[in-house]
Amino acid sequence: MGNKNIQYIADNALCSACGGCYSVCPVSAISLEENIAGYKVAKIDFDRCINCGKCYQICPSVMANTPKINKCDVDIFHGECLGSYVGYATDSKIRQQSQSGGIVTALLCYLIDCHVIDGAVVNKFNKKTKRPEAFFEKEIEGIKESSGSYYSQSSVVNEVLKHQNQKTAAVILGCQGECLQLIREKYPEIVLPKYLIGLVCAGQYSGNYIDQLMQEAGCCKQDVTEFRFRDKRHGGWPGNTRITTTNQEYVLNKTIRQVLKPVFEVHRCLFCFDQMNIFSDITVGDPWGITNKSVKEGNSIIIARTKKGKSLIEAAFRDGIINVENLPVENIIKGQTVNDRLKTQFFTVMEISQQKDLMPPFNVENLKNISSYEKASKEKYKEIELRLRHSKEIYLESSRERYIKVITSASRKAIYRMKIQKIINFPKKCLRYALRKLKIRYK
Ligand SMILES: Cc1cc2nc3c(=O)[nH]c(=O)nc-3n(C[C@H](O)[C@H](O)[C@H](O)COP(=O)(O)OP(=O)(O)OC[C@H]3O[C@@H](n4cnc5c(N)ncnc54)[C@H](O)[C@@H]3O)c2cc1C
Ligand code: SF4
Ligand code: SF4
Ligand code: SF4
Repeated sequence: MGNKNIQYIADNALCSACGGCYSVCPVSAISLEENIAGYKVAKIDFDRCINCGKCYQICPSVMANTPKINKCDVDIFHGECLGSYVGYATDSKIRQQSQSGGIVTALLCYLIDCHVIDGAVVNKFNKKTKRPEAFFEKEIEGIKESSGSYYSQSSVVNEVLKHQNQKTAAVILGCQGECLQLIREKYPEIVLPKYLIGLVCAGQYSGNYIDQLMQEAGCCKQDVTEFRFRDKRHGGWPGNTRITTTNQEYVLNKTIRQVLKPVFEVHRCLFCFDQMNIFSDITVGDPWGITNKSVKEGNSIIIARTKKGKSLIEAAFRDGIINVENLPVENIIKGQTVNDRLKTQFFTVMEISQQKDLMPPFNVENLKNISSYEKASKEKYKEIELRLRHSKEIYLESSRERYIKVITSASRKAIYRMKIQKIINFPKKCLRYALRKLKIRYK
């Protein structure tokens, strides 16, 4: 087997912290630790490693591993579609507390209530570490409490594989789905969840992103008991950031969260083709671009990818658990800007990788039937190149002092640019407001 292990993945900033290698290692030689930049990274203890190659075979960042999709006549950026919808959970409390329309939480509660599964792998905020954490939840109330999205790394596959002896469902991101698909292909004896509910995912961010948002809100990290990246109860969908401490609630405008994203993004995410989570049974996301459905209460877009996924949606609809209507999948793909942003980014990254000797996790040759996309403009190319360089440099930074300096400066610049943009936009905003008022008067 030679030295085929995942250490070079971590050393090249390509670990997404899915947790797969950690779970399959037969001698527990792998740990997942947060580095200086707040990224979770897989690390091998070579005194223990027996060189079996298992970790290498299931890692979704190993180029030789690009997982197969069942039907090769679908665009791999879109995935299979047996039905596509927009909708929400009929339980108003679930919908209100959820990230978009509460579809994920409603389906998980339904599966437990009908005794189809014993429990599900979901995520919660760990008050001690101040980071999200995957865990197995059996109770419906617990599933409800775990709604909402954490946009920073959590090792879901590890938690999934710990519960092979039970009937489970799991909420996963694309790279976690790829890891599970590789496990399915290479280790068929491993029991996987009955249902994989995939989230649309255009990227996740380092744990230090959470710390930075706490700092911007002006709260003390030690006192934080709850952290919601997006809370619809503050500003409606998509929601502002809410941070709760032992004695106060802090709300941070969503623009700050947005502008800080590029400072903390995960290098591996820039190489990702699987935003639409093609290896899941059901993909769920925000209703971006679906203008008539982007209401304050929230809706989810849904794609059924397998027969059992479709049957689950239909049964939950029939039993009044969710309310959905058909929506052409093309509208979803367009709203998620798959063809005109994601593909452009992906192929630009691949092009830069070849020139700059970066290590891409995918072999473009294996990605078939890709429908058209826009080539990056000069400015876009430069922007992507900068993001690639920044995300790799901070991931690999070994000095805490230098890291803080870079991050503080990048965060300040991002917030400064946001403020300038606000000032520039102010007259336009006033004009739009005045025109709206005038229209009303002359009606
Ligand atoms: C990192 C990340 C990036 C995303 N990017 C996009 C995007 O670009 N476009 C888009 O349309 N949607 C994106 N989403 C999905 C979106 O935020 C909602 O999760 C989705 O619309 C489902 O909403 P819901 O109301 O049905 O789910 P809810 O009912 O609120 O349930 C959400 C479920 O996700 C689980 N969960 C939370 N964080 C994670 C995590 N990190 N990994 C695995 N499971 C988790 C929760 O425990 C809960 O069970 C992203 C989600 C994540 C976690
Ligand atoms: S991406 Fe997943 S499997 Fe690969 S090294 Fe990281 S944690 Fe391990
Ligand atoms: S090569 Fe085998 S023993 Fe070594 S870290 Fe990977 S899975 Fe563990
Ligand atoms: S963008 Fe891709 S690699 Fe990054 S977390 Fe999402 S699914 Fe994983």
